Amino acid sequence: MTDRLYLYDTTLRDGQQTQGVQFSTPEKIRIAEALDSLGLDYIEGGWPGANPTDSAFFDAAPETRAKMTAFGMTKRAGRSAENDDVLAAVLNAGTATVCIVGKSHDFHVTDALGITLDENAENIRASIAHIVAEGREALFDAEHFFDGYKAHPDYALRCAKAAYEAGARWVVLCDTNGGTLPHEIHAITRAVIEAGIPGDHIGIHTHNDTETAVAGSLAAVDAGARQIQGTLNGLGERCGNANLTTLIPTLLLKEPYKSQYETGIAAETLESLTRTSRMLDDILNRVPFRQAAYVGASAFAHKAGLHASAIVKNPTTYEHIDPALVGNKRIIPMSNQAGQSNLRKRLADAGLEVEKDNPALAQILEDIKAREDQGYSFDTAQASFELLARRALGLLPNFFEVKRYKVTVERRKNKYNRMVSLSEAVVVVKIGDEKKLSVSESLDESGSDRGPVNALSKALAKDLGPYQKYIDDIRLVDFKVRITQGGTEAVTRVIIDSEDSTGRRWSTVGVSPNIVDASFEALLDAVTWKLVQEGATL
Ligand SMILES: [Zn+2]
Repeated sequence: MTDRLYLYDTTLRDGQQTQGVQFSTPEKIRIAEALDSLGLDYIEGGWPGANPTDSAFFDAAPETRAKMTAFGMTKRAGRSAENDDVLAAVLNAGTATVCIVGKSHDFHVTDALGITLDENAENIRASIAHIVAEGREALFDAEHFFDGYKAHPDYALRCAKAAYEAGARWVVLCDTNGGTLPHEIHAITRAVIEAGIPGDHIGIHTHNDTETAVAGSLAAVDAGARQIQGTLNGLGERCGNANLTTLIPTLLLKEPYKSQYETGIAAETLESLTRTSRMLDDILNRVPFRQAAYVGASAFAHKAGLHASAIVKNPTTYEHIDPALVGNKRIIPMSNQAGQSNLRKRLADAGLEVEKDNPALAQILEDIKAREDQGYSFDTAQASFELLARRALGLLPNFFEVKRYKVTVERRKNKYNRMVSLSEAVVVVKIGDEKKLSVSESLDESGSDRGPVNALSKALAKDLGPYQKYIDDIRLVDFKVRITQGGTEAVTRVIIDSEDSTGRRWSTVGVSPNIVDASFEALLDAVTWKLVQEGATL
């Protein structure tokens, strides 16, 4: 007999509480779609009414198999649930599921809210009853539950029961301050079940302030809880929330969870976990944490020597799982066979079948290593990686040569006496025997300045003679800049995402001490990659 465990993602709500994180609506949609295809049961989209981008997200929310959930708080004292405008805004998002947070620690009720304990319990009951009466599935996030239970167990239980008895599908025990250790979480969850709330109605919401959020969630499951709340990559306020990117493979691959429980996530979709984790970092313009469990670039990286030679003979010698199960890969020092077979696989994914003994393989690995030492990163810049490989394989036509480029940046007063900025770029290319000079400005149709990289991009793509028809539809969609280490110097790494009229999207990288130069290199790769894809010839 297996029990069903439900996974509840709050990346878009609690995850957005992370310092410096603010998702745009399109980004939220992308994340929601990724969570849904991963197989999460619930996606908490945000707090409609409290945050304009959250409201916009619910208006545009994608159709998901996962239950889209709106978050809010219990009604306030002194008005009915029906007349509480904050609660109404949450219900108006029209989601099938609604999660409301409320107090369960008596000290917070009397000191932070300034209402009586009875009023708070009644607010919980009435709010949940109202949500249920509206035909929605209701969740109650019992804020500060563990601290509250430790202070006054009776009152904490009274709040949890008020929600359960009013019809809440889930009563979620929250370790809001993140300081509760796993053994305490286990004991208190157990006590809640013994007090009459069945485990298959109990959820767990932990924070990572003692770096035990994942362990605390597992302890709650061991005690009988059947819903786990967390975020991708452990994103969240302070030290973060329980990391679903770690919890998911643990639940699917480790005993006793593997045999005792079922989740909505299939073994095949688990393979997309690493990709999903990197996608989030990419949206946040963050360097992926190399040592992240399961999905980090170093999670299955072996240094040269004893480990590496044992790994080649039998991977289980120094690996707790097969990295392919979570879509990660084994990294063994470049020179050996395994490094080459990884590379061949990546090349095959790009449509380049390379024979096992081709000496270009060693060359490509060396080129990558040398470039990475200079500050390049090919993890996301797949198009630049392909060009590097094609060059080594002799499969990259010499489409054109850039003879020179120039960019000027100017700031001056216009005729209305307002300061305006403007960039101008000149690019000279040689195609066959013909030289072409293109000039472009950085102003868009509305007359606003789009900056020097935009001017360069336009000049480069303005007149490529016979190739023009292939590149006319390239659009620069994203531009990320990061200061990184290249050798002993700090250098600038630019990643550019381009898109064409077919919706195809590709990423290229450039590195230089100079941001414009790094951008130009990435732009050049973007154009060259597109010409390769189009099968352009002179
Ligand atoms: Zn939280």
